[in-house]
Amino acid sequence: MKILVLNSGSSSLKFTLFQMSDESVLVSGTFERIGLPLSIFSFQKCGSSSETISANIPNHGAALDALFEAFTLGPISALSDIPAVAHRLGHGGKYRETRLIDTEVMDELRKVTPFFPLHYPAMILEIEECMKRMPQALHVAVFDCSFHRDIPDEAAIYGLPYRFFSEKGYRRIGYHGNSHAFSAIESANFLGRPLKQLRIITCHLGNGASCCAIKHGKSIDTTMGVTTIEGLIMGTRSGDLDPGLIPFIMDEEKLTTGQISDMLVNHSGLLGISGLSRDMREIEKAVAEGHERATLALKAFCYKVKKSVGSMLMALGGCDALVFTGGIGINSSTVRSKCLEDTEELGFMIDTEKNLNLVPPTMEQPVKEISAEASPTKILVIRANEEIMMARDCCNLAKAIVKI
Ligand code: ADP
Repeated sequence: MKILVLNSGSSSLKFTLFQMSDESVLVSGTFERIGLPLSIFSFQKCGSSSETISANIPNHGAALDALFEAFTLGPISALSDIPAVAHRLGHGGKYRETRLIDTEVMDELRKVTPFFPLHYPAMILEIEECMKRMPQALHVAVFDCSFHRDIPDEAAIYGLPYRFFSEKGYRRIGYHGNSHAFSAIESANFLGRPLKQLRIITCHLGNGASCCAIKHGKSIDTTMGVTTIEGLIMGTRSGDLDPGLIPFIMDEEKLTTGQISDMLVNHSGLLGISGLSRDMREIEKAVAEGHERATLALKAFCYKVKKSVGSMLMALGGCDALVFTGGIGINSSTVRSKCLEDTEELGFMIDTEKNLNLVPPTMEQPVKEISAEASPTKILVIRANEEIMMARDCCNLAKAIVKI
């Protein structure tokens, strides 16, 4: 069975076409700058080098047209060769499990759109356009929050009047679920121990970032909430802050709800503190040049991760493996060492040389170890493969539906 995995952002579309018999990637790539001048379409077919085309891609429908044209020149002869498509979504409203997309699912996605004004309109458009172009295929929603569905109420509830929890369902939903789940499975494989016996802390550090406590294969707590702003300091998102500040800032600066939301999502985090960039590579370069605010941003980012790892450690009551993943997690030895500074007595002992000289893990070799031999907790660096987790879920559902 071939499964197409689609992951849309407000102006991007990532895609991977898998052959599920051996989980090989037939073609993968990205559209960037959709709707902007000079959109970029890059893709790599199995066994070929990657190609990049600059084109006029006004919307996600046009991106799908370009994608399907490229497909028919390569790994498939017709779109009907793809029986199922996995669409990546964050919050599924009342839905927490991977499911077939029907009108009820679409209605639910529209209901949660106000929480994600930047991303959901593009995601919904991508699903609608894809369904039009591939009416024969099963279209499956895979939610980033599914992995966190077992977080107990006491960890998920906010200290608000109870009706927000009971009637509106405002609880810690959590995101990056496919990444945290992949890291947990790969950690167990690497350690050669059953996942059901392990306590794992995963730190997904990319533009978006979250930590997760995984007990015996299940997420029991995570740092992200109903929206993707809560928790760690991120590229442009604030992470946790005093809720009492929000109405004050709105009054002081005469901001509308849209404007404060924009500030918390797009102008805060590493970018907001440093005044320089959301990109950790640029922050690290500026730190090396003595830039004060970049130094503060880097320290604050790592300190917040460290504090969150501490709270996950308490939630788990111990930790067999700690994982760094995401673009920053796999690439930055500085961030990894700062996040675990002075935590040796708590069981986190990094091998400084291994960490410094680490060649980042790859799809082919996704797990590397940076812990010292004597470290009670294994410290791993894992290259996330969220797409294969989505493809597996989609494939299982499709098989159950068509009873293969
Ligand atoms: P997204 O959340 O958008 O998927 P990624 O997981 O790709 O993000 O991570 C992007 C982040 O990874 C950026 O902050 C980028 O600077 C950082 N990054 C990538 N390579 C390096 C590197 N060599 N050193 C430090 N940070 C890096």
